[in-house]
Amino acid sequence: MRILVVEDDPDLSRQLKSALADAGYAVDTAPDGEEAHFLGETEPYDAIVLDLGLPKIDGVTVLERWRRAEVATPVLILTARGAWSDKVAGFDAGADDYLAKPFHTEELLARLRALLRRSAGHAAPSLSCGALRLDPRAARATVNGEPLRLTSLEYRLLHYLMMHQGRVISRTELVEHLYDQDFDRDSNTIEVFVGRLRKKIGPDRIETVRGLGYRLMPLEGEATER
Ligand code: CA
Repeated sequence: MRILVVEDDPDLSRQLKSALADAGYAVDTAPDGEEAHFLGETEPYDAIVLDLGLPKIDGVTVLERWRRAEVATPVLILTARGAWSDKVAGFDAGADDYLAKPFHTEELLARLRALLRRSAGHAAPSLSCGALRLDPRAARATVNGEPLRLTSLEYRLLHYLMMHQGRVISRTELVEHLYDQDFDRDSNTIEVFVGRLRKKIGPDRIETVRGLGYRLMPLEGEATER
């Protein structure tokens, strides 16, 4: 999952980037409304954290422009404490959730998990696919109850595939959602990560659909636990 953090306070921005990276997300940051507007419109983020008080273009205007351009990415706005009119303006502009500053990072992470889950159409907080289970709260995955030892990129790959299980996902889509913009984004490396993940979760759970991409499916006869 790839997240855009729009925040002009450099300390808070760094802090959020590192907390989100630790939680297993690829993170890009934008320090002002202009760059935020550009990135949000051109890059396919899974969610955006948007501060409202921003240099160059304010957050509400940025959000209105994204929505007018039909950018449907879930957006969580950060507002000043007690500024109820900001919240109203933010929701009217198309925000999906908000947090008032100052906030606990844990709460931001929990709200993002909920936003991502809802936008992918999942109701339960943990994801299952046959004997595979992934809990984004703990950034942990198991197969038949056995913990999987995954690197952060393998975890991101599995998380994305589980969020979109049953659907064929192209390598380009994976590159766009697993790596931040500073990463050397070579789509051939995806093949390497899929290979490593197959070794850990079993070779047949990720199907290669020639010329199209990959699809995560439960094994035949394997019921998905609820
Ligand atoms: Ca600000």
